[in-house]
Amino acid sequence: MSTGNIYFDHAATTPVKREVLEAMLPYFEEKYGNPSSVYSIGRASKKAIEEARESVAGIIGAEPREIYFTGSGTEADNWAIKGAAYANMKKGKHIITTSIEHHAVLHTCQYLESDGFEVTYLPVDEYGLVSPEQLEAAIRPDTILISVMYANNEIGTIQPIAEIGRIAKEKGIVFHTDAVQAMGNIRIDVSKLNVDMLSMSSHKFYGPKGVGALYVRKGTKLTSFIHGGAQERGRRASTENVPAIVGLAKALELADKNMDHHNEKLIALRDRTIREIEKNIPFVRLNGHREMRLPGNVNFSFDFIEGESLLLMLDLKGIAASSGSACTSGSLDPSHVLLAIGLSHETAHGSLRITFGDGNTDEEVDYLMEVLPEIVQRLREMSPLYEEVSRK
Ligand SMILES: *Cc1c(COP(=O)(O)O)cnc(C)c1O
Repeated sequence: MSTGNIYFDHAATTPVKREVLEAMLPYFEEKYGNPSSVYSIGRASKKAIEEARESVAGIIGAEPREIYFTGSGTEADNWAIKGAAYANMKKGKHIITTSIEHHAVLHTCQYLESDGFEVTYLPVDEYGLVSPEQLEAAIRPDTILISVMYANNEIGTIQPIAEIGRIAKEKGIVFHTDAVQAMGNIRIDVSKLNVDMLSMSSHKFYGPKGVGALYVRKGTKLTSFIHGGAQERGRRASTENVPAIVGLAKALELADKNMDHHNEKLIALRDRTIREIEKNIPFVRLNGHREMRLPGNVNFSFDFIEGESLLLMLDLKGIAASSGSACTSGSLDPSHVLLAIGLSHETAHGSLRITFGDGNTDEEVDYLMEVLPEIVQRLREMSPLYEEVSRK
């Protein structure tokens, strides 16, 4: 196979599907009306948004009025956490989350700490799993919110969300989950999970960027996020991004319809890649859980090398991958997720994340396995530490 453009970074973002784009296009040109207007072209936009809301709600077992469209996954996380914190602060100021959340959650919690809230960051085990027992033990009389991500964007570990939801419900504490990575990969029914709030982001499931949604169970106390007009039941003002909302709903419908096939394919690519890396490259460690893992996620640490150099060498061969989370690349801090599962700074620096998606093929994995062992070997030959080890 030639050195084409191979995209193995679907946890960072995904291409917009043709059908999604086609569903969006009319809302840029002919159907451009403001959904708040009373004339028919405005009402057509309003109708498109309400149909999108019904569709998203139906897919996750919610009611349409429990779905709020947002400007991104990050915004949904910010709103859920700040909104619940400020709405419940008379009851208490303690929040429980985990040490492996996306920065959209972690930095929001850190902001709240600067405003007088107390946050417990639960540790995870070597696979990246949160312990429901530890979570239960961390609950205090003043705990007002629990936020635990559904699946991790770096190592793919899927958390025991139903169990955590049961505990939160028993204790009467609001439970939010950042399901941005889970959406489109895992069937989610909020009524069965006892989740009170759930964040999603369209560009992680083949929809457009810059649009997300927050599910808010009715009765959940939440302050408004953007003040202004009456859009989104007055809680998230500003003229709706109609094409993006239509695109989000279309992308989720397609993901829901194709999920079994999609997962089967991704799991095959994932498991083959894990198997072949473990077989063909020495001194590696698979990060994340082997079974409780997103279908398209492969994350390895390679001793004696720098993840950034590995990425550059792969890029020269036409392969796009990641060395952790996109947000941390460019900085020299190793990934907080890899440190949380117990990796040393050195090992964390030598990690590679490959995330498969709809367009990937077996031939692309053939090509990866043709070039990766060679690249790893070449980089290791530059390491004095590796020289010592390999001489033994
Ligand atoms: C991508 C991602 C986000 C942020 O979503 P945006 O729409 O890009 O703001 C939040 N949480 C997780 C787990 C993610 O993977």
